[in-house]
Amino acid sequence: MKKKQIAILGSTGSIGTQALEVIENNPDRYEAYVLTANNRVDELIAQARRFRPEAVVIANESCYTQLKEALADLPIKVYAGADALCQVVEDTAIDMVLTAMVGYAGLRPTMNAIRARKPIALANKETLVVAGELINDLARVCGTPILPVDSEHSAVFQCLAGEVGNPIEKVILTASGGPFRTCTPEQLATVTKDQALKHPNWDMGAKITIDSASMMNKGFEVIEAKWLFGVRPDQIEVVVHPQSIIHSMVQFEDGGIKAQLGMPDMRLPIQYAFSYPDRLKADFPRVDFTLCNHLTFERPDTTRFRNLALAYEALHRGGNMPCIVNAANEIVVAAFLRDEISFLAMSDVIEQTMARTSFVAKPTYEDYVATDAEARHYATEIVKQN
Ligand code: NDP
Ligand code: MG
Repeated sequence: MKKKQIAILGSTGSIGTQALEVIENNPDRYEAYVLTANNRVDELIAQARRFRPEAVVIANESCYTQLKEALADLPIKVYAGADALCQVVEDTAIDMVLTAMVGYAGLRPTMNAIRARKPIALANKETLVVAGELINDLARVCGTPILPVDSEHSAVFQCLAGEVGNPIEKVILTASGGPFRTCTPEQLATVTKDQALKHPNWDMGAKITIDSASMMNKGFEVIEAKWLFGVRPDQIEVVVHPQSIIHSMVQFEDGGIKAQLGMPDMRLPIQYAFSYPDRLKADFPRVDFTLCNHLTFERPDTTRFRNLALAYEALHRGGNMPCIVNAANEIVVAAFLRDEISFLAMSDVIEQTMARTSFVAKPTYEDYVATDAEARHYATEIVKQN
């Protein structure tokens, strides 16, 4: 069997390293063809020595010499910079691109990979939040499939297997509720970065962990679901399910609901995106229903977690509004991680940035670039005044 050659954008992160575990567990099927990182050059060197990819890219150009010298004894191509990261996905030998880098920086390489007709295993949800319509149009024109990696969307995708021709009535996205699910508004006002970084069920990169605590992650996932599954906002429901055993559900037109369940482990959705439509044997932990015997559900509270309401508002307003929210969110999360603003102030800054940034109803790629820069500028100013 020819091995599937996989480019992992963001191989040093939480998703990237778990994807490498999946590759390592299936050496007859998959090979890491490209590995990339932003700053963590030592991790990238170690990965390159272990997985022997065709090429590595470090986005931060100042790390190039260190990377090049460390791999000088191996026949691995070494590149640096954001442009190289975009171009590397075009290599004809690549069979699939896993977008596991974080934030808006994922947009351009993902677009390039779609143009190069490489099936996308999409973890970088920000790409669909920022420019879902553009990405969908491009994928349609190029005939490039986009396979979800996000656990909720993978769950929906798994529920849709065998349902061709059966319309979705409703997508039900589950949310853990994060570490602050039961906090009062007074408690939320004083929560710290360290508390926010402790997610009850998932071990993830810092940015998405803060997004989960603020529920912006769930807001982004609502937007992601719209573009992946072609449903209207009113067909997407969020339900808080603190145990994270049901990863999401689909309700069909006869009222029947299908759910996908499993232990919280990203290796399963990553592997499913790699192996789709097949399922591969794996020893990921199994659910023991005698231990997980209490599955509970609650309505999300958009008063305490305003980011979820802001994301829905952006989805309803459309155009470049989700791009504005994403840019503002990247600024406030970075500021929160530097202890420059409070947890609750993050929503204030995002709301004010939404009000100030120029609205574009039908954005082009260039409009998104301009919007991202404008929204970052305003959000940074508002954070400073805070
Ligand atoms: P991490 O922060 O753990 O890893 C991010 C990866 O992207 C690292 O390899 C990092 O390099 C690289 N990177 C960061 N910024 C840039 C940049 N500007 N240019 C190039 N590379 C960059 O994030 P996660 O793995 O947690 O998340 C990755 C994506 O997957 C996000 O979009 C997230 O929302 C999504 N996702 C993650 C889940 C999870 O369980 N972790 C679940 C569902 C979705 P370096 O190591 O050098 O910093
Ligand atoms: Mg998710």
